[in-house]
Amino acid sequence: MGSHPEVVILGAGLAGMTAAYHLRDRDVVVIESRDRVGGRTLSGEHDGYWYNSGAQFVWDARTVAQCRELGLDVLGGEGALSAVFLNGKLAIAPDANRLFMKMPVSWVEKARFALTITRLRRIASRTHGLDAELDARSLADVIGATSDITRDILEMATTSGTGLSTQEVSGAIGLGYAIHLFGGDVNSTLKAVRGGTQQISNAIAEAIDPERLMLECKVESVAASGGGVKVRYRRGEGKPEEVEASICISAMTADAVLETIPDLPEAKREALQSVLPY
Ligand SMILES: Cc1cc2nc3c(=O)[nH]c(=O)nc-3n(C[C@H](O)[C@H](O)[C@H](O)COP(=O)(O)OP(=O)(O)OC[C@H]3O[C@@H](n4cnc5c(N)ncnc54)[C@H](O)[C@@H]3O)c2cc1C
Repeated sequence: MGSHPEVVILGAGLAGMTAAYHLRDRDVVVIESRDRVGGRTLSGEHDGYWYNSGAQFVWDARTVAQCRELGLDVLGGEGALSAVFLNGKLAIAPDANRLFMKMPVSWVEKARFALTITRLRRIASRTHGLDAELDARSLADVIGATSDITRDILEMATTSGTGLSTQEVSGAIGLGYAIHLFGGDVNSTLKAVRGGTQQISNAIAEAIDPERLMLECKVESVAASGGGVKVRYRRGEGKPEEVEASICISAMTADAVLETIPDLPEAKREALQSVLPY
């Protein structure tokens, strides 16, 4: 027999869990295929140190405010060291200028690097919010012609921050990561959540009624039904089950949305296809 909540949220990543938190006073259920919440925020602990395998930083004022409301400890970058690993050597320094001086490369290379960073910082300082023109280009394209060593440093900073190469990430998203070790515009605003970014979703899971969270339930199809939506899902290897709700918020990955909602408007289908694979 199916259930009839007012709202059904699909996916318990940061987006789905944030929606669940804001709607916690309504009749809501969250359906998630994995056995955990957090999606692409996955954090762990080893030997007394915590780490993130997915998203590391938060910076949006609303996210930071939500973390504080949930009782999480939000840490700034003050006192953090910067490092680059180049030519088999690790250079560590307390700030951008001293890191630049300690980089194990020739002065000619340093001059080339400084020219590129200055150019990229100028672009970043002119950018406010998500710049559509930069977003339509890859970060590699925005970096443009530069020396191999400069490209290696920017590649390292970008990959460690975003999990993507400069070819894969857009100029709008990647630029701040590429230059953050060297005084980029996001340098003072990047924050971390103590215990890891997954703590945001874990804290929300604790704040909402556990019966509303359906883990290990894979959504198979979503279709309009009467004035609402019918969601078909499968719990583990079990038989298909259904939830009917007035409102459905889909916060699954793009591939899952394309697979489970066949009658999406064409423009939305194209937009989702354009971000695959990710
Ligand atoms: C290595 C790495 C570093 C990153 N660094 C940062 C960073 O520093 N700062 C930042 O802001 N962002 C960062 N990001 C991006 C950030 O992690 C994502 O943008 C964000 O976590 C996406 O959240 P989401 O809820 O939209 O999607 P997801 O977290 O992907 O959640 C989607 C959920 O839907 C579930 N799902 C999928 N299919 C189904 C189905 N059929 N049925 C039910 N459930 C389903 C998935 O299991 C998942 O839990 C990083 C990402 C990576 C990979």
